[in-house]
Amino acid sequence: MSLMMSVSGVRGIIGETMTPVLAAELGLAFGSHLGGGKVVVGRDSRPSGTMVQRALVSGLMAAGCDVVELGIVTTPGTALMVGRLGAAGGVVVTASHNPKQWNGIKFLTPQGYAPPPDEAQRILDRYRAKQFKLVRVEQLRAVAPDDSTHEQHVSAVTAQVNVEAIRKRSFHVVLDSVNGAGGVGGRMLLERLGCRVTHLNAEPTGHFAHTPEPLAENLTGLCDAVRQHGADVGFAQDPDADRLAVVDNTGRYIGEEFTLALCALRMFSRKPGPAATNLSTSRMIDDLAAAAGGACRVIRTSVGEAHVARAIVANGCVVGGEGNGGVILPDVVLVRDSFAAMAIVLELLAIESKPLNRIVETMPRYSMIKQKFDLDPPKVAAWLERVRREAGDGRIDTADGIRIDWPDGWVHVRPSNTEPIARVIAEARDEATAQRLAGRITSLL
Ligand code: MG
Repeated sequence: MSLMMSVSGVRGIIGETMTPVLAAELGLAFGSHLGGGKVVVGRDSRPSGTMVQRALVSGLMAAGCDVVELGIVTTPGTALMVGRLGAAGGVVVTASHNPKQWNGIKFLTPQGYAPPPDEAQRILDRYRAKQFKLVRVEQLRAVAPDDSTHEQHVSAVTAQVNVEAIRKRSFHVVLDSVNGAGGVGGRMLLERLGCRVTHLNAEPTGHFAHTPEPLAENLTGLCDAVRQHGADVGFAQDPDADRLAVVDNTGRYIGEEFTLALCALRMFSRKPGPAATNLSTSRMIDDLAAAAGGACRVIRTSVGEAHVARAIVANGCVVGGEGNGGVILPDVVLVRDSFAAMAIVLELLAIESKPLNRIVETMPRYSMIKQKFDLDPPKVAAWLERVRREAGDGRIDTADGIRIDWPDGWVHVRPSNTEPIARVIAEARDEATAQRLAGRITSLL
């Protein structure tokens, strides 16, 4: 059961399910789906990266693709290069926040974001049916390296923020790159913004210094370092550097939900406009949009990065993302980007002229509860119907499971598409109310 294959990508364990055969066939499937053309390939720093990438590239070439290899780069960096090089698509070899025995393969569209579920499904169907379009020798194309990703990404991000204002403050930043792909470019970005950088786990070796998901329990080293150095802020990237967690100047992990909220706070003031996020993300962003007024509002989407990215494009959003620390700054790239998030948080600090803990104190405060239950697929419909009847005067959104918003809080109920489980997320002003709301829904199971 170590192979996870879904519309959000493929992940498996090295030595078990993530094999060169799988990678080559996924390369063949994606190359055949595209019908050839230029494909940009990046990988995170995992020790298995070269092995998986070479097999994947072999498959892409056999389907007639022209391949550009970016080396060890971030997911947002790869997405940016898809656009810069006018490619037909991109692939990132990464298992994101999974431990190092995992690796994975994630496809990108020519727009540089994850393919929408129907397209992703067509690629997987093609892989399963082995419908590969092999080209003859005359149609085989080249592989070329490109080592400009970090530089191009950093330039794209700094073009979007007030570099002067940030540089003036000479912020001391502790960056934990978990020995992932984000260290080289992340440090380059912070130095270009005039920051003094204390860099933890900076080497892109893929030997992750701690459990790589940027959650509180994995970032005690970062929190300690921020306190010891009296730094202004701590940042933690995940191995492919799309997600960012933030630690305040007192060494407190403020929670991944705050990454998007802090960026939205800045963007609503600098470039007022709509924001997009998924239905499971905190209400903080709605409060910030309401306080900003004018064109600022929040569009809610189904869970999944591709849904958020498409809503950003369709509504001309100025910012978007997810409550897991994934911020999308569409003026840079249409995937979650820890570089853009770091730059916007630093700009917020520079403009507000207050320490981060003081800014966080002024923000709306909520308690969020996340629960997961086993649920037989045949029972899903009846349960959702009971949940719907529980809504009373609440506002209902059924784009992805059911979300009900009441004045004092909300719940989002979401059966998984890939496993026999359901997720219940509840948020309210205080923990007791959040517990009560979640209990109301789970008692209906
Ligand atoms: Mg990631």
